[in-house]
Amino acid sequence: MAFDLIIRNGTVVRETEETADVAIEGESIVQIAPSIVGAAKQEIDAKGLHVFPATIDPHVHFNDPGRSEWEGIATGSAALAAGGGACFFDMPLNSTPSTLDGLSFDAKLAIAQSQSHTDFGLWGGLTPGNLDKLEELAQRGVVGLKAFMCDSGIDDFARADDWTLFRGMLLARQLGLIVAVHAENQDITAGLQELARSKGLSGVRDYLKSRPQVAEIEAISRAITIAGETGCRLHIVHVSTSRGIELIARARAEGVDVTCETCPHYLVLTADDAIGLGALAKCAPPLRSPEDRNALWDHLAAGRIDFVASDHSPAPMEMKTAPNFFDVWGGVAGVQSTLAALTTQSHIVNPPAIARVTSGNIARRFGIERKGRLEPGFDADITLVDLAAKFELKRDMLLDRHKLSPFVGLTLRGRVKQTLLRGKTICQDGKVTSPPAGKLVRPAKV
Ligand code: ZN
Repeated sequence: MAFDLIIRNGTVVRETEETADVAIEGESIVQIAPSIVGAAKQEIDAKGLHVFPATIDPHVHFNDPGRSEWEGIATGSAALAAGGGACFFDMPLNSTPSTLDGLSFDAKLAIAQSQSHTDFGLWGGLTPGNLDKLEELAQRGVVGLKAFMCDSGIDDFARADDWTLFRGMLLARQLGLIVAVHAENQDITAGLQELARSKGLSGVRDYLKSRPQVAEIEAISRAITIAGETGCRLHIVHVSTSRGIELIARARAEGVDVTCETCPHYLVLTADDAIGLGALAKCAPPLRSPEDRNALWDHLAAGRIDFVASDHSPAPMEMKTAPNFFDVWGGVAGVQSTLAALTTQSHIVNPPAIARVTSGNIARRFGIERKGRLEPGFDADITLVDLAAKFELKRDMLLDRHKLSPFVGLTLRGRVKQTLLRGKTICQDGKVTSPPAGKLVRPAKV
C-alpha cells in the first residue's frame, strides 16, 4: 500500500497531543497512528513540530471585488496560508458590491475561485434593503448573514435597526442560517462621537472614550433577546469586553443558541497600545483595558470564547493618516498572526484548545463538513508549527497587501513551517508554493 503522503513523527493535535504519523491519500487524511507501516510517494519528517489542523478564519475583509486596492483575495489568502490557515470566510462588506444578493455573491465567488490560495466561505449581508434576497443568498451557500447594529462605515451596507434584525432573524431561522452581529449601540456611539467632534476633540483617547463598554454590552444583550425570541442561531463577532463574554455565557446557559469570537488584537493589545500605535490599532469596538485583556484570556482558557478570528480589515495608508482620529479609517490587519498570537501563550491555552478556537469549533458551528479536525475522512488541511521557535514579527514577513500590522515588532513563539490544503503544500517557510486552488465551502443542511 502506497500513500500519497505521510507526515511522520509530529505531535498531532487533537483532543490531546500525541506523537503519531498522518497518512494522506488524495485530498483526505486516511490514517493517524503511531509508526504507520508502508510507503508513500512523499514523506515529511515532522519530528519536533506540532501538527495542527490548519486554521479557519471566519472573519476577514479581503475586499474583492471592487476594493482590491485595500487588500485582495490573492494577497489576503496568501497571508492566511503563511500564518497556518487553509480556509477563510469573507465578510459581505468592504467589497463593492457588498454581498447582498445572488449576483453579488456570484461576482465574489468567481474572483475567489480564480485567486484564492485557500478554501473559502462567503458571508451574506443582512440589511434593511435586502430581506427579500436572503433566500437566494442561502441557496448560493452563504455561511451565514452578517448585520451591523451600528453604522458600518460603508455607505452601501446599511445598519440593521431592531425591526430589520427581528425580521431578518425570523427569516434566517427558516433558512437555517446563523446571524452574526457587530454589536455596538448606534445611539450611544454616534452620540458620543458627535459630542466629541462638537468640542473639537480629535485624539486617539477621544475616540476610545466614544465607544464605551456599555455600547457593546447593551447591543449584545439586545441581540441575544431578539435571537432567543425568534429562535435564530446567533453569533457575536469580535467581543472586546469581559462583561460581553459573561453575558453570552449566561444566555447560552439559559438555552439561547449563541456563540462568540474575540480577536488577537483584543488579546494582545490594550488601549495604551492604541495610543502608541495610532491608526494601525484603530478598531471598533476599540482596544480595552489590561484587565479586560487578561479576563479574555481567562475566558478563552475556560472555553467561554468559541473562536479567535482575525477580523482582518486593512486599508491603504493614505486612509489611515487623517489629522482627526475620528476620520482615520478603522480596521486591524492581522490575518497572518492569529495562530502565532495564541501559540505564544500556549501555557495559558494549550494546543488542543488552540485548535478548537481556530478550527474545530468553527467548522462545527457553521456545519462545514470534513474540515476543522485531524481525523480519517477529513480534508488534509494541516499546518506544521515549531512551537519552540521564537521570532520577531517583521514587516517583510507579511504577505498581505499593505503590511500595516500592529503586531509588527512583537516577539512571538510558534512559527508556521508549512501549510497544506487538501493534501497539497500551499505555503512553506512563509512563501507561497502553489497557484491558487481554493474552493467554496458551504454549510451542510441543518
Ligand atoms: Zn469585521
